[in-house]
Amino acid sequence: MLALQTWVLRSGGRTVLVDTGVGNGRERPDSPLFHHWQGDFLGALARAGVRPEDVDVVVNTHIHSDHVGWNTRDADGEWVPTFPNARYLLPAADDFHYGPDNAYAKGARRDDRLLHEDSVAPIHRAGQSVLWDGSYRIDEHLTLESAPGHTPGSSVLRLTSGTDRAVFVGDLLHSPVQILDPSCNSGFCLDAEQAADSRRRILERAATERELVVPAHFAGAGLVEVRREGSGFALAPSTVS
Ligand SMILES: [Zn+2]
Repeated sequence: MLALQTWVLRSGGRTVLVDTGVGNGRERPDSPLFHHWQGDFLGALARAGVRPEDVDVVVNTHIHSDHVGWNTRDADGEWVPTFPNARYLLPAADDFHYGPDNAYAKGARRDDRLLHEDSVAPIHRAGQSVLWDGSYRIDEHLTLESAPGHTPGSSVLRLTSGTDRAVFVGDLLHSPVQILDPSCNSGFCLDAEQAADSRRRILERAATERELVVPAHFAGAGLVEVRREGSGFALAPSTVS
């Protein structure tokens, strides 16, 4: 069972969204679950106390259709940024891979062109995108860093606040099984070996530095603590359930 999560962070007086779900009314012929999806994302956001104009920073951990959808909304047939005052942080490697200069991932899937056209290109046209590579410091508490493999630009967001530590790992993990055996990839990881390397590296640091691990798709509480065990890792006993 998977959840699609958007995390809302408050940092230094700013409101930061991590990933933006599927979006409404998209053409996604390769993804029947997401095709013409209609959900109450903005209502849920309002109930969490966030209006679109309040959002200062949007983080897309990577450019897949379930992570960039609400970047934009339909305004009388035109896709426009949902968050008019936000800068959108996009991994440059994914923008290239799924963008027109690489023929929309070389035309492997129609959805890749469609999602770039309706959820990414309008952000560029509005002048609200920031492309980054390697690492990107948002403020004293939040830093993005590359963790490629799932996609070429996949990234994680590290949070430090006082003695608290967390890492938002996007699609580095889809299932707790991948904590027990980090060599297990999802069917969506483009570079299997690199994805497994990134997963192991990020989990090792999370175990060492006691970072709370926050994936994009875990159901329930949606976050876990990990510790080393054997050649892999285990869910720490204090894991939130
Ligand atoms: Zn995903």
